[in-house]
Amino acid sequence: MSSAVTVTLNGESRVVPVGTIVRDVLNGIPSRELVAARIDGKVVDLTRKLEHDAAVEPVLADSPEGLEVIRHSTAHLMAMAVQSLYPGTQVTIGPVIEDGFFYDFAPPAPFTVEDLPKIEAKMRELAKADHKIQRTEVAREDAIRKFSAMGEKYKVEIIQGIADDHVSIYSQGDWMDLCRGPHVPSTRYLKAFKLTGVAGAYWRGDEHNAMLSRIYGTAFAGKEALEEHLKLVELARQRDHRKLGREMGLYIFDPISPGSPFYLPKGVIIFNALIDYMRRLYRRYGYDEVVTPLLFKNELFNTSGHWENFRENMFLSPDPDSETHAIDTGPDGWRHGYGLKPMNCPGHMFVYRAEKRSYRDLPLRFAEFSRLHRAERSGTLHGLMRVRAMSQDDAHIFCREDQIEDEIALNLQMVRDVYGALGFERVEFKLATMPEQHLGAAEQWQMTEAMLGNAMKRNEIAFEINPKEGAFYGPKIEIYVSDALKRKWQVATIQLDYNAPERFDLTYTNRAGAEERPVVIHRAILGSLERFIGVLIEHTGGVLPLWLAPEQVRVLSLSEKVEAYANEVAALLKREGFRAHADIRNEKLGFKVREAEMAKVPYMIVVGEREAADRSVSVRLLRGAKSNAMPLAALVEQLKKEPVPA
Ligand SMILES: [Zn+2]
Ligand SMILES: [Zn+2]
Repeated sequence: MSSAVTVTLNGESRVVPVGTIVRDVLNGIPSRELVAARIDGKVVDLTRKLEHDAAVEPVLADSPEGLEVIRHSTAHLMAMAVQSLYPGTQVTIGPVIEDGFFYDFAPPAPFTVEDLPKIEAKMRELAKADHKIQRTEVAREDAIRKFSAMGEKYKVEIIQGIADDHVSIYSQGDWMDLCRGPHVPSTRYLKAFKLTGVAGAYWRGDEHNAMLSRIYGTAFAGKEALEEHLKLVELARQRDHRKLGREMGLYIFDPISPGSPFYLPKGVIIFNALIDYMRRLYRRYGYDEVVTPLLFKNELFNTSGHWENFRENMFLSPDPDSETHAIDTGPDGWRHGYGLKPMNCPGHMFVYRAEKRSYRDLPLRFAEFSRLHRAERSGTLHGLMRVRAMSQDDAHIFCREDQIEDEIALNLQMVRDVYGALGFERVEFKLATMPEQHLGAAEQWQMTEAMLGNAMKRNEIAFEINPKEGAFYGPKIEIYVSDALKRKWQVATIQLDYNAPERFDLTYTNRAGAEERPVVIHRAILGSLERFIGVLIEHTGGVLPLWLAPEQVRVLSLSEKVEAYANEVAALLKREGFRAHADIRNEKLGFKVREAEMAKVPYMIVVGEREAADRSVSVRLLRGAKSNAMPLAALVEQLKKEPVPA
């Protein structure tokens, strides 16, 4: 056996003795930034020995893999603290989750949030003590004996389920845990963490098993990142669209129709304003609106492929003409019964087919805002973000193959118009390519993927590839926006479809008089209006631009003496086309202002005797500017200058 190995780092190779620890070949990187290493792509401890030729890379603390190592190591630190504070507590599992980690314990008594500060303080003490974290490999039988002796029944059960004859154990100080790792080299690396909550959880997620006590926490590479994260979590709580929707009087939910919003008059104003805006764009971009049925014979969904691929997400209904009134959900059930449409596409195929089409008619762009229903499981429903009833700014473009690239380019331009107008500054694009399971030849996929890529390049749009994530019938462009809380939402999609025209036997007559298949582009820009409104409310905290604000102006009277003037101002603003109301209740101004702020009214107009005498108003903006006196006519001018997207 050779006594030296070749290590490749940053494209440079060098020879080091066998058994050199990987940390020693990563010199030059400050130890506080380095938490682990990658050997031939696999993340390992910095103390791992180099046994063969390998490519080595550093894993930095603030990289996604580095954060995972830190979070998992913090879960261990928490378990160590818990077991030292609460003797008799058994450990089970402690995985990393999005933005943090948890650990499930079997304590003598369940933990409560009151226990968290004490545990956190102990964690800090143990972190400071700089316990080295060491990995050892032991025979499986030895590990079972060891954990049995410690009374760790759950760990023993876990090890018994492992097939390997050796398992790894990580120890720090007098504490140890069965674990694959990797971990940071010592507890002093863990300096930015916070315990965030407790919950009950069944062992192995099975309700027949014992109830465990779960503690959640989060950890970051540094204090600043942790603070920033906690601030955003708190902001997200304050801006929860379900809470703001109630305070602003926009929508309600009721168990009588789970997952289906009841829009209140003010919510409908936002809903319709968004649709009106899309309609203005449709006129400019050459779309025609259609309205197709909500209820179809299931035969339609068999033709479209929804019966095969989507029927468990559909609401089905019996055929009123049948004797049995039964619903058949089996593979052949499409021969009977009806279903509520989960998507508009199949209906639009019938609109296309309704007339004979020529190459000169194309492209045809059919848009529809109709309600759609999807049978989402009740456990997944979440306010407006995940619903059973929705409307989309949905459209299907029927075009010739030589028109695809132009159509995609136009759509991308529209996406930019919309997200620019709605105040989302960060828009990201991905090209989702051919999945394992797909229809059509690989060459066709390469061609259509290239068309989507070219259309983005023409719009000077940078994009990432999302490999193998296309729909089975064609590649798609996925469009994501980042909100003010730094969360990413997939909103718009543009999908190319060669399959639907086949299934519905769509044709057009080409220049030479022969029949050809059109291509279908499915696209939505806002996506589901429900979800979009939810995102918009959380992004803005309910402080909407004037054109979307349900109540644009509220006139607040200072006393009974100016009631008439307050009403007159509100009436004048209404005549000018604004959504204005007068609050002439006999309440203190501070109270009225707080209510208007809660309802997120952008313009609060205060009128007292002086204003009534010289026909002026005092303007107070929701966004914090203090009052500002001006003639009534000047206010109207200012309101008219507020931007409205064309
Ligand atoms: Zn572990
Ligand atoms: Zn579609």
